[in-house]
Amino acid sequence: MSEPYLPTRWYNLIADLPTPPPPALHPMTHQPLTPEDLATLFPMACIEQEVASDRYIPIPDEVREIYKLWRPTPLRRAVRLEKALGTPAKIYYKYEGASPVGSHKPNTAVAQAYYNRKEGITRLTTETGAGQWGAALAMAGAFLGIDVQVYMVKVSYYQKPYRRVLMETFGARVTPSPSNETESGRAILAQDPETNGSLGVAISEAVEVAVKDPGAKYSLGSVLNHVLLHQTVIGQEALQQMDEAGAYPDVVIGCVGGGSNFGGIAFPFLGERLRNGRNTRFVAVEPAACPTLTLGKYAYDYGDTAKLTPLVKMHTLGHTFMPAGIHAGGLRYHGMAPLISQAVDLGFIEPRSYAQLTVFEAAMLFARNEGIIPAPETSHAIRAAIDEALDAKAKNEERVILFNFSGHGFMDMTSYQTYLTGEMVDYNHTEEKLAESLACLPEI
Ligand SMILES: *Cc1c(COP(=O)(O)O)cnc(C)c1O
Repeated sequence: MSEPYLPTRWYNLIADLPTPPPPALHPMTHQPLTPEDLATLFPMACIEQEVASDRYIPIPDEVREIYKLWRPTPLRRAVRLEKALGTPAKIYYKYEGASPVGSHKPNTAVAQAYYNRKEGITRLTTETGAGQWGAALAMAGAFLGIDVQVYMVKVSYYQKPYRRVLMETFGARVTPSPSNETESGRAILAQDPETNGSLGVAISEAVEVAVKDPGAKYSLGSVLNHVLLHQTVIGQEALQQMDEAGAYPDVVIGCVGGGSNFGGIAFPFLGERLRNGRNTRFVAVEPAACPTLTLGKYAYDYGDTAKLTPLVKMHTLGHTFMPAGIHAGGLRYHGMAPLISQAVDLGFIEPRSYAQLTVFEAAMLFARNEGIIPAPETSHAIRAAIDEALDAKAKNEERVILFNFSGHGFMDMTSYQTYLTGEMVDYNHTEEKLAESLACLPEI
């Protein structure tokens, strides 16, 4: 039996961007961050990848062996959806829901757990929104012999109880955030005991615990350069698979929370555009309730609410922004990957936002034609793919559309129930809150 194609190296967009993102700054001194500054949080291998400028970085054999449990993931054409829309466009999707935990997140969780274990770390702390990242790191911890402590955003902890059980099945410890276990958690609870929590607060808790325990490090599931790097297995496989299908995408689409699944599928294709002049468009889709790229500012900001993380230049809604409790928990983050922000600023990526009702309508149409129930996050990409297909229909264009199916929604049934019973609402108070939180941006 011939081995299916599985990339042997990750692709680093920095090698091909005309200007790289500006450096991260120390949260106290505002001076460019040194590798030593990051060493309390991350293993050296990840810190080196964070600042690497090589175009390709080899994937360790042990990581590739684990990838083989679910990679390469399928590339499928949504023919029934195309017919239902009556579009001449071709809609392809890369099915990252095929991973054991049902999302793209293990692509980096396994790599990060591997590098930590190699450097003698026995405990990892992290935050999770909807629970997909926590589940991925919990699984990676089980594979590589690392204890995992997860701070889970409170609204998701109660909306998505099965993801907590999934993490616990892999052996992780899960705490709703904000919690009483940390100074940052207690400070937020003192202000508002009923808070939904947010990724920004959960990050503060996980970072605080990692900094205080010398045997522990912290692991982030999105945003950072090394995380987006690990996700480029998606786009490299898709390049090969599209080629086998005899097509090349006119537009590549992904949803964006911190930007990792979008970067994972888009960057290898963006590299083709930058090096070889391929004419692909890139569309990054976010929730209207957390409109980081469409309404945020491109400025230095903290990654968390308690201002413990480095300052990075990114599109941000302000580190104090508390997004409404939309069902796409994985997209409720105030910031964005600096690499995505830089590519948006350079005009290579078009940002777009949708409110949740129209996103769930798209999810229903996809499910009823293709049979897979998408995660609420993924459904943002599906909404945009459908709109591209309808636009191609209006213009009678044979557009080739590729979107990343970042994860399935089999554990998001509460969200579907809310939609099906007509109880789901759109939120429209974002702008006032935004003005308040943007006023709290640090002056750099
Ligand atoms: C976490 C998650 C996202 C959002 O995170 P990114 O880093 O922007 O990819 C999107 N879809 C799914 C299924 C997720 O689990």
